[in-house]
Amino acid sequence: MQASATPNAHPQLEASISHLADLIAFDTTSAYSNLELIDYMEEFFTNLGADVTVLPDKSGEKANLVARLGPADLPGIVLSGHTDVVPANPKSWQSDPFKMEQRGSRLFGRGTCDMKGFAACVMAAAPAFANAELQRPFYFCFSHDEEVGCLGAPAIARYLSELKVPPALAIIGEPSEMKLINGQKGKIAMRVTVLGEGGHSSFSPQHVNAVEYASRIITMIAERSRRYEQDGPFDHDFTVPHATTLTTIIEGGVATNVTPDTCSFIFELRSIDQNAAAADIKALIHDIEATLLPEMQRLSVDSAIEWQELFAYPAMGDATANEMFKQLEPILPERGGKVSYGSEGGVFEVDGGIPSVILGPGSIRQAHKPDEFIEIEQLNQCLAFFDKLNAWMKY
Ligand SMILES: [Zn+2]
Repeated sequence: MQASATPNAHPQLEASISHLADLIAFDTTSAYSNLELIDYMEEFFTNLGADVTVLPDKSGEKANLVARLGPADLPGIVLSGHTDVVPANPKSWQSDPFKMEQRGSRLFGRGTCDMKGFAACVMAAAPAFANAELQRPFYFCFSHDEEVGCLGAPAIARYLSELKVPPALAIIGEPSEMKLINGQKGKIAMRVTVLGEGGHSSFSPQHVNAVEYASRIITMIAERSRRYEQDGPFDHDFTVPHATTLTTIIEGGVATNVTPDTCSFIFELRSIDQNAAAADIKALIHDIEATLLPEMQRLSVDSAIEWQELFAYPAMGDATANEMFKQLEPILPERGGKVSYGSEGGVFEVDGGIPSVILGPGSIRQAHKPDEFIEIEQLNQCLAFFDKLNAWMKY
């Protein structure tokens, strides 16, 4: 690696690149176990003298890790990342997605920016944190299954909230090009199954056509989205300054001459308000059922619309009025607005009561794509920020 070619290279830059290469080599696609990576981190943080807790999930195939450095009896700061990555199809990549490769000023590999780059910087900075006379604790938190709906983070948030003195602020290291993000949309993903009554399509007036009823539900979902767009509520710190809802996947029908009796589809709601999303979904379901169900059941009493929540994570609110945030503000980088992609920030807030912001190296534009990369300079900037944070934690 040629980190030394980076202008003003941080003394720990080589170490962060080396940790990143190690982390990329664990194929932690969400479908697979992350335990080898968690073992690697557990050994690393234990050797530094951290207080390490591993929180396994029910399957025993996945785990979260929480490592504390500094005093347990004072409110501290969480540095949090997820260990899983989205799938990578090696055929679409120029190099092996699970073998980090440097090309020029960039490091390529699945997870380099989303978000093992942040974890690598935490590990590179951790020896300096361990040697400092910390007056407040750091909690390094690494979760499983963020990419499939923030499934691991709630257990971390609950664990932290049950500590005698819980942390006062969480920094979620999602790629934000090292700008401070003070809001993130929440998401609810639902599967809808329309159960009608089928038969030979020449008798269709006697049937309950599940595809047609699904299309009317989808139209009502789209109308709801237009109302958000027209009537708000609005928050212009977001690029799309209101909630959105849309259908993303649909399946139904068996043959050209059969009235379909089943149709299922998936839709999402992305919300800006932590508290309103569940009520909005409930109201939408009520509206749809009141409009369509009586009509469907007049033809067939067994007709039904089934609603299944696939996953949900809450929006991350604005933590900038929080006391710890205000104390920290002088060392924080410039603001980058609010984002519509998911993160665990809302989970820390809702399940843990810990105000959260997003701040991490790399760009979300490179996430979830073939040839994902991070600019080495982003790691450098993250390490420089950790220096400031470390100095601040001593007072
Ligand atoms: Zn991520």
